Amino acid sequence: MRQSVIAYIGLGANLGDAQLAVLAAMDAIADLDGVALLRRSSLYGSAPVDAGGADYVNAVVEVQTRLKAQELLTGLQQLERQAGRERNYHNAPRTLDLDLLLFGKEHIAHPDLVVPHPRMWQRAFVLHPLAELAPKRVSEADWKAVRHQSVWRLEQDASKNA
Ligand code: ADP
Ligand code: MG
Repeated sequence: MRQSVIAYIGLGANLGDAQLAVLAAMDAIADLDGVALLRRSSLYGSAPVDAGGADYVNAVVEVQTRLKAQELLTGLQQLERQAGRERNYHNAPRTLDLDLLLFGKEHIAHPDLVVPHPRMWQRAFVLHPLAELAPKRVSEADWKAVRHQSVWRLEQDASKNA
């Protein structure tokens, strides 16, 4: 049997009830075959980067999985599509963005999957919730790089009640 791996997934939404979308996505991730949800971060709010529109709701979950990284990504993309299909007009923007941030200690450079996620280090809305769960994965230099970005916590520390 494959060894299981600890992975971190970033969640973001800014359409409709974004908090509900992120919380529902956590439940849906927990229900994926071969995936166990271990902990979740608090919910955070962030202003859109380089775009207009509503504020985002962001969070990170820690999972344990026997899937390969590519299989996990496929499951996450299915959940993104399901969330998108709930919108009832053509070409609606996605309600949900799910990014595979870290997959054990693996480094993956595939056309469809790059891990660690290449843009996570520039995004305060990823680093804050990630640091709640895995503080050692965020360095002083990482914090410095995002110090001007505005991110706010929407609830008390939730990492103990996944
Ligand atoms: P972003 O999340 O950076 O705002 P998108 O969600 O629109 O951008 O990007 C989706 C694309 O990114 C997909 O085609 C997917 O194959 C690719 N991708 C590459 N690496 C990853 C990763 N680690 N997690 C999620 N998607 C990834
Ligand atoms: Mg994405």
